[in-house]
Amino acid sequence: MSARQQNQASVWFFYFVAAALGLSFLVTLLVLAWNNVVEREVQKFAYESLSIDDIVRTNVRAANDSLENFATVLEAVPEISAAQLESYAGDTLKRFDFITAIAIYRRRAGDDEFLSEFAFQRGPGASLPPKVTAGTDDAMGLGFEAALHASAPIPTGTIEDGPAAGSFLLLKPVAESAAVSGRAAILVLRIEPDEIFSNVSSHPYLTVRLFSESEGVGGRQLLFERTPATASREWAVDSLEESTQVRFDRYSMRLIAGRETYWGALDKGLLFTGLVLGAGVTLLLIALARAKELQARELRERNRVIEDQVRRQTRELAEARDQALAASRVESDFLASMSHEIRTPLNAIIGMAELLSDTDLSGDQQKYVDVFKNAGEALLSLVNDILDLSKIEAEQLVLEKIDFNVLALVEQSADIYALKTAAKGIELAAHVAADVPADLLGDPSRLRQIILNLIGNAIKFTESGEIVVHVSGMAGGEERVRLLFSVSDTGIGIPEEKLESIFGSFTQVDSSTTRKYGGTGLGLTISKRVVEMMGGRIWVESVEAKGSTFKFEIEFKRGDSTPRELPSQTVDIKGLAVLIVDDSETNRLILREALQAQGAVVTECGSGGDAVAAYTARADRNDPFDLILCDAQMPGMDGFEVIDTIVKQGGSVKTLMMLTSSNLSDDLERANQIGLGGYLVKPVKRAELMRAIEGVLEIAAKTEVAADRADAAKPGEQRALLLVEDNSDNRLLIKAYLKREPYDVDEAENGAEALEMFKNKPYDLVLMDVQMPIMDGHTATREIRAYEAAQGIAKVPVIALTAHAIKEEMDKSIEAGCSAHLTKPIKKQTLLTALAEHLEP
Ligand code: ADP
Repeated sequence: MSARQQNQASVWFFYFVAAALGLSFLVTLLVLAWNNVVEREVQKFAYESLSIDDIVRTNVRAANDSLENFATVLEAVPEISAAQLESYAGDTLKRFDFITAIAIYRRRAGDDEFLSEFAFQRGPGASLPPKVTAGTDDAMGLGFEAALHASAPIPTGTIEDGPAAGSFLLLKPVAESAAVSGRAAILVLRIEPDEIFSNVSSHPYLTVRLFSESEGVGGRQLLFERTPATASREWAVDSLEESTQVRFDRYSMRLIAGRETYWGALDKGLLFTGLVLGAGVTLLLIALARAKELQARELRERNRVIEDQVRRQTRELAEARDQALAASRVESDFLASMSHEIRTPLNAIIGMAELLSDTDLSGDQQKYVDVFKNAGEALLSLVNDILDLSKIEAEQLVLEKIDFNVLALVEQSADIYALKTAAKGIELAAHVAADVPADLLGDPSRLRQIILNLIGNAIKFTESGEIVVHVSGMAGGEERVRLLFSVSDTGIGIPEEKLESIFGSFTQVDSSTTRKYGGTGLGLTISKRVVEMMGGRIWVESVEAKGSTFKFEIEFKRGDSTPRELPSQTVDIKGLAVLIVDDSETNRLILREALQAQGAVVTECGSGGDAVAAYTARADRNDPFDLILCDAQMPGMDGFEVIDTIVKQGGSVKTLMMLTSSNLSDDLERANQIGLGGYLVKPVKRAELMRAIEGVLEIAAKTEVAADRADAAKPGEQRALLLVEDNSDNRLLIKAYLKREPYDVDEAENGAEALEMFKNKPYDLVLMDVQMPIMDGHTATREIRAYEAAQGIAKVPVIALTAHAIKEEMDKSIEAGCSAHLTKPIKKQTLLTALAEHLEP
């Protein structure tokens, strides 16, 4: 059975139940009403018959009593006069309407004939016959015959003809007396039954019958009968009858009253009420069933509509998803090519500016070149920011999960800004707490981007004082660790109401900020989004004119690899007595922590004067310091003066001077003059500190701590490079970079050309642009790799040059067989370092 049929069946079932319930209620109501109506009729009839019975009984008794009284009078007063009789009879007749005559009949001697002796009657005179023969076959004759043998009154049958027809007589024999001259006489009372019943309130359908029942007068005789005038043609609902008897000595009277109950005469109000009520309930129940069906139908309909809607929406959603996927592919492609298109000319601008500033320029010229170099760099950082932001917005940013060392990352980040802070005269210190695990798993380049952005901002908005980058461990376990990063400055601060809004896109504290400090208002937005992508949060605490502290916390997984022990950390400095001299408390803290962790015994001084005093005191006690770690730039007595003073006092001590990168060459000269043991460039990195200590303790005067690695790479002979790049500006730029270097550069304008040249001449390295006409860089690289494999020659390093800073693009390059990947705009130093790295010595 289908669901629809099932529904239909259940609907009909409900209708059936509703109708059955309603009808049975209706029937019950009707039966109750009917019983009630019929019962009422019975009661009514009972009242009627009772009142008839009462009247008849009273009157019949009265007639009987009157006859008896008359007889008693006759017997008691034999000499009663006719006039007296007449008045007595007159009284009786006056009292009882239904007694119409009183008479005395006397028997003729020896005969059966009775002659009227006295008669008093109402109405027409000769209604009673003057002579009655006992035993004749009429009512009177038979009655007289019976009366002769009786002692008590007896009735006759109904008189059939004559003016008195319809009435009957009540007879009583009286003993002989004077009045009746000693012979048998019969006293007669004529009774008109019509008169008895005239008082009976007559129901139209009432039937009344009066019978006399006596022995000797012919058994039961009908004396009176009244039947309804017209027989009803209606339906008789019920037939009622009541029969009563009045007993006397010699006879009894029986009254039978009856009547039919006709439909038309019934009180039908109750029946109608029952009918209406029952029908109403039935209709109500059916209506309920109907309502239920309608509701179910509506529900089904609504369900169908919802199902349709859901199906439609699902389809639409699927379409929308497909469109969005397509759009995001398009967007991603667009980002990649936009990034390429903008970076390529920028590459040329910034590179050329760099080259130009290397040449001899007048003061003004240098200024102009600096302006367009700075503008180019600002533009580049803006492009990078917008690109980053749109990647985040398009959900295209994919975070890496690789092992990295957080200490190195923070120190390198601080290092990048060393020059800037030194030039501004601000202290920059990086402090990674000892409890922070060395190896973590995550995206180091994005983390670096956040830290660099915060440090960059701090420098931008700070004129004096210090900037401290701090990392500490929060909660953590075997698997994961939560780190709190903070970058605090002593700059202009941020008003309280702006603390939230500065994290929004293009939002700055006030619009004049742009004019004074530059910037776009995107850095913090990107940082916030990236921190959130890493599952963390970022916020800022700040007091205006005092400084700001940007904080963010991120949970990292611990790296898989066992923490690498930095070689310099194995230096044994246990028990080494070190004097730290620095005006910055933060710097002293950082150095102290690093040294104490390795077992050194540390003493601190906040100024040059204190340092000299502390040194002299220890030297006098013959317990000199093993090492002085001294900040070069300090207010009052600077680092060089401190060492100078000590040396001039005849002291001898191993010294590490901490220099800032801004006036490095002057400082180095001074260091050489004094003959210092060694120096460090601020911000001091832990590994470099250890290495420097190692150096200064073993070799007293080692001056090459801050050697430039790229400069150190000294190739022996000319190397053959193949530069593949379609943009002539960029070719020119790269060739310019390599002009004074020992490289022999051949140029190709596209992949196909490069492949031909590669097959014809052995190259030491290939610089390969990626986006090119005719044959792109990836295809060309693949072809080169295939060629090498076919020829059985060793792989030549291929460095891809792309404008795409997107991770997927880098992956593509590696997949195509490139050895490395450089992102445009390419700086001279980066290029040289990469070449040195990939060329075998
Ligand atoms: P940008 O620095 O490029 O304008 P950011 O999103 O990095 O954009 O910063 C937004 C704004 O927040 C800045 O313009 C500045 O008003 C405020 N701000 C950020 N860092 C600091 C800070 N260290 N001290 C004071 N104000 C800051």
